[in-house]
Amino acid sequence: MEETPLGKTSWERWKRFAATLGSLLAVLLFVAITSASAGGWDYLGSKGSSVAEESCTGSRVHRDGAERFQQVCLHGGTEPARSGIYDHSSNNSGVYRCACCGTPLFTAGDKFDSGTGWPSFKAPVAQAMGYRKDLLALGSTEVHCSTCGAHLGHVFEDGPSPTGLRYCINSVCLWLDADSVNASDYNIPWVANSYLMLALLISSSLGCCLLSKRAGEQVLSWRNRSRVEARGVEVEVFATMPP
Ligand SMILES: [Zn+2]
Repeated sequence: MEETPLGKTSWERWKRFAATLGSLLAVLLFVAITSASAGGWDYLGSKGSSVAEESCTGSRVHRDGAERFQQVCLHGGTEPARSGIYDHSSNNSGVYRCACCGTPLFTAGDKFDSGTGWPSFKAPVAQAMGYRKDLLALGSTEVHCSTCGAHLGHVFEDGPSPTGLRYCINSVCLWLDADSVNASDYNIPWVANSYLMLALLISSSLGCCLLSKRAGEQVLSWRNRSRVEARGVEVEVFATMPP
């Protein structure tokens, strides 16, 4: 059955409405999830922290070198895998402190071997972590010292129980204080999962594709219409030409 022009227009409108609504919902969902999780809104354009060296009131000369300390902890870089002094350390007691200000960050008992090449922890010390979204790393969440703001690493949701989190920390941003004791915080604010972020980005992209498809169809329709009109003029010219 041939579709009437009215029916087609109505269908096209519904498709356009659904595509717009879908895109809008995907964006709103994205914003809601990222703002509800740890780190809040502070995620746009961030790639680690940037901290002035003067704020490192409790810093120590690190065995991995002052240059690496500046690049990683103060300017948000990442040390090469398996290069840090704490990658394979397995102390059962003590506290890992911030290399910049000395704040206790992780207890030695929460360290585990993730096989990634960076010191990994399943939970931080209470109130020790600050979180920030890092879209440049596919939605992973950057972690920094909540006291001085020094960059530490990232947290991922593929860690061991009971938290299910893996705090992947640059060794150069830590120093082990073997004599201290601190309580771990297992009541960790929710951090957005990178796979969830990926799903949101894909759904947003699909919504945009639908809109683009609609725009493409519109352009084709305009082009066909102008061709038909041009041919009509051509036929008219031929018809008026003398034999
Ligand atoms: Zn600090």
